[in-house]
Amino acid sequence: MKAFDYVAAHSVEQVISLLNLHGEEARVLSGGTDLIVQLREGRKQAVLLVDIKAVDEVNQLSYHPLQGLLIGAAVPCWRVCHDPAVVAHYPGLVDAAGLIGGRQIQSRASLGGNLCNASPAADSIPALIVHQAVGIIAGRAGLREVAVEAFCTAPGKTVLQRGEFLAALRLPPPPAHFGACYLRFTPRSEMDIAVAGAGVAVTLSADGAAFTSARIALGGVAPTPLFVAEAGEALVGQPVSDAAILQAAQIARQAAHPISDLRGSREQRSHLCAVLVKRALEGAIQRARTSSSKDEG
Ligand SMILES: Cc1cc2nc3c(=O)[nH]c(=O)nc-3n(C[C@H](O)[C@H](O)[C@H](O)COP(=O)(O)OP(=O)(O)OC[C@H]3O[C@@H](n4cnc5c(N)ncnc54)[C@H](O)[C@@H]3O)c2cc1C
Repeated sequence: MKAFDYVAAHSVEQVISLLNLHGEEARVLSGGTDLIVQLREGRKQAVLLVDIKAVDEVNQLSYHPLQGLLIGAAVPCWRVCHDPAVVAHYPGLVDAAGLIGGRQIQSRASLGGNLCNASPAADSIPALIVHQAVGIIAGRAGLREVAVEAFCTAPGKTVLQRGEFLAALRLPPPPAHFGACYLRFTPRSEMDIAVAGAGVAVTLSADGAAFTSARIALGGVAPTPLFVAEAGEALVGQPVSDAAILQAAQIARQAAHPISDLRGSREQRSHLCAVLVKRALEGAIQRARTSSSKDEG
């Protein structure tokens, strides 16, 4: 591994100033579970690492019933998975954060790092998309917001510009009768990245019999995580039925454009899209109905 300088930043302003000064030679360090591996293997270079873990703003995790959830970019996955408000209101996120690596990785790995690393197969990104997460980006001009579905622009590339970093993620409060689910396929049950993944979120009518809204996103089947708006829109107004679920799964499958690599073939990934979307929809529907009965009880 090549030598680099290291600064533990203590404020958002200090991070911005260092990133601005050093440009592409500086990299943000969060949990380091991607970055340190990439530096060691020579896949990325850095002259300076700017550690953001001691910056207060990026360690916040708070929920407000009207404003929703604010997750600091450096909050590790274990805090996300075990937070009572996240468990109660953002089930798709709990599924995804709980799948990232094992316990040791989850104690370091952040959702901010998962998003900024911009892997097409990153587990948290489809879940963030279906929960309508927005990235809050800090830079010299102040804060700007970008929907997570627009954040990754190519494998390993994001909308972040020189001097900018991701400060936090904000997720709106879910409506009544809401459920979400994230599922992935890996050849091994743990410590592996997704061959394909699917996140879905649904809102049902009060009696649980029809879809009033739905969002569907895929991972591992395109150069960036994919928001398939049309698959969710096809469900709106439909009765909850096997036919509606299969139709949405087929639309998602058609939107995917996977590649073949040593982890899976194009055909397998395409098939997985439909299977995972169908199963994730069934899981989200069940959760929406359970959350409705809890609300009423
Ligand atoms: C054994 C192992 C298993 C893994 N399993 C999985 C898995 O199952 N699923 C999965 O999706 N991933 C997995 N990963 C990858 C990794 O753990 C995750 O992507 C993790 O969420 C990255 O977060 P981090 O905080 O460690 O990021 P870091 O490694 O600190 O950063 C990752 C990248 O994002 C940049 N960055 C980080 N934070 C910011 C920010 N706030 N603003 C701007 N840029 C930033 C860094 O400069 C770097 O380029 C695994 C890794 C290992 C080593």
